[in-house]
Amino acid sequence: MPTQAAVAVDRPFAHHSADGQAIVVNQLSKRFRVDDGVVTALDKVSLDVRQGEFVAIVGPSGCGKSTLLKILTGLLTPSAGETRIGGIVTKGPRRDIGTVFQAPLLFAWRTVLENVMLPADVQKLDRERSVQRAHSLLDLVGLTDFKRRYPNELSGGMQQRVSIARALLHDPAILLMDEPFGALDAMTRERMNLELQRLWLESNKSILFITHSIPEAVFMANRVVVMTPRPGRVAEIMDIDLPAGRGLEIMNSPEFGAYVSRIRAHFGSSGVID
Ligand code: ADP
Ligand code: MG
Repeated sequence: MPTQAAVAVDRPFAHHSADGQAIVVNQLSKRFRVDDGVVTALDKVSLDVRQGEFVAIVGPSGCGKSTLLKILTGLLTPSAGETRIGGIVTKGPRRDIGTVFQAPLLFAWRTVLENVMLPADVQKLDRERSVQRAHSLLDLVGLTDFKRRYPNELSGGMQQRVSIARALLHDPAILLMDEPFGALDAMTRERMNLELQRLWLESNKSILFITHSIPEAVFMANRVVVMTPRPGRVAEIMDIDLPAGRGLEIMNSPEFGAYVSRIRAHFGSSGVID
């Protein structure tokens, strides 16, 4: 076993920092200048994802969830504070993570299979192994029959599943997902929840999963970060002490219901969240 210091030096894309943190968000604020002033999207947000954790962020529309994810991926710069992935401060886009954005962002001129293969092309990964992996991921997301189709021939939910397969192609240790199942019908969404849970349990990935569904957050995560309506702040960070390897029936348990109620209480009866 190398020492932790040696790991950090030898592997610039280490999966986590020496302190076991996969993702760190430290006192992060983001303000946008708009025509009639300034919008504060995030206000001193701090949270972390330890190596191997599944952390869900839940909060109403407009509370800065997507802004946070864009800062984590280097697409936006913070107004104050910083984010670190695998111990390295985010400075710009990086390839060692898998990202599913809220809007699928597929290339119109590439087939479904070619879209999933994108990380392999960009990172010059072994072609044969990547194609095999692409096929099994397309199977996982239920799109085997559509691999030769183009994005404009797919529904929004199917496009989202393509972007999920693409995010997993290079087997990243860290996954960032922004409402990845938002456009799916209820049954497909449940199936994808179970598949992602299985993948997480088998692979020991560190996952940051954004959702505006409270039950989905409680079902998937071992910790839930609850955000306030805009400006986005952390209202509470909650451990979910439900057994790993959850089945859908757990949603009917009193413990599950108690977590959901406790999170919902943050939003009162405003109806701002599912
Ligand atoms: P969420 O993903 O939680 O729904 P967003 O991060 O998309 O929220 O947006 C948070 C707030 O920041 C919203 O009020 C939104 O209008 C504003 N916002 C996001 N991006 C921009 C931008 N590029 N310019 C101005 N305002 C923005
Ligand atoms: Mg969003």
